[in-house]
Amino acid sequence: MQTATIKAESIKSEPIRFERFMAARDAELQERILAAKARLGKRLVILGHHYQQESVYRHADYTGDSLKLSRYAGETDAEFIVFLGVHFMAEVADILSRPDQIAILPDLAAGCSMADMANLAKVERSRRELSKVLDFDATITPVTYINSAADLKAFCGEHGGIVCTSTNAPKIIEWAFAQREKVLFFPDQNLGRWSGYKMGIPLEQMPVWNPDQPMGGLTEEQIRNAKILLWKGHCAVHQMFREQNITRFRAEHPDGLVISHPESPFEVCLNSDYVGSTEYILKTVSEAPSGTKWLVGTELNLVNRLAEKMKPEGKLVQFMSHVICECSTMARIDPQHLAWTLENLVEGNIVNQIKVPDAEARLAKLTLDRMLEAS
Ligand code: SF4
Repeated sequence: MQTATIKAESIKSEPIRFERFMAARDAELQERILAAKARLGKRLVILGHHYQQESVYRHADYTGDSLKLSRYAGETDAEFIVFLGVHFMAEVADILSRPDQIAILPDLAAGCSMADMANLAKVERSRRELSKVLDFDATITPVTYINSAADLKAFCGEHGGIVCTSTNAPKIIEWAFAQREKVLFFPDQNLGRWSGYKMGIPLEQMPVWNPDQPMGGLTEEQIRNAKILLWKGHCAVHQMFREQNITRFRAEHPDGLVISHPESPFEVCLNSDYVGSTEYILKTVSEAPSGTKWLVGTELNLVNRLAEKMKPEGKLVQFMSHVICECSTMARIDPQHLAWTLENLVEGNIVNQIKVPDAEARLAKLTLDRMLEAS
């Protein structure tokens, strides 16, 4: 996990302690959040990812997926950007905003388990190992999913690489191939595999690179034949979806439709009618004819919210898994942390600022700008 610092010079008074918010009731917290928002006015913008729980999501000024929220972060004039999401998202907000703007994550423990599956030490070691077989910088474009720490985005900046999101992954991989003949894709193997498959790359030319094994667990020949080397990483939430969930749904609803996020396992994507980002899922289901039935493979909070919204149109929206798989790290942002953060800002105290070191931010911004331009 990357640095999360509180700038000492920004602190105007002793921060209000979080413990004071722990026992507060939800209704009271909702009112306090609204009151603090009103007092901060245009100085504050709250960005909320679709996977956030409703009790905080409702306070977001803008909602969206990672790509949409990155754009908002780069465009807002607000002094404080409070991110209802996970750590790497607040880092992106810090990188894309002006130096005088302050990105804040209400709970620093809100990380992303997938992002944690690739770290700089492992990626650097992989580069050294791959360099024994081929000239890394001349042959491989590193592509990192936006769900990654800032230092990995900086690594891509330094080695002619780029960032992608689930919305633009195929387009970005095309960009990457226009630079060099191979791609090292991290940290999500599922997104990389599905994007490569849609581009017509045979599965055998997309071997999994296991960073915990010598030479990624691959032979020299496999490395030379590879088009995309897929980092051995995944999202624990989307990994729960199974082909059987789809089979069961189709048996119950022969006219039903299945839509999945590309972080889901390959077989799930292959058996879905539609595959796309959270924005794509929301748009497709919202614009579908009334009375349609959907099985949706993405995070539970989004699916529950969508199901409620679609009820008046007579649409059935069902979550793909029979077990509850909410993103537990996203869920760390709760009304207690949001109220604590905002009331501190009202008092002139900045808590939980996310500040990416300058050199790293410069290189990471290069890759994010490349992505925004290419998409
Ligand atoms: S849903 Fe998966 S990829 Fe998204 S933040 Fe949670 S762990 Fe990370």
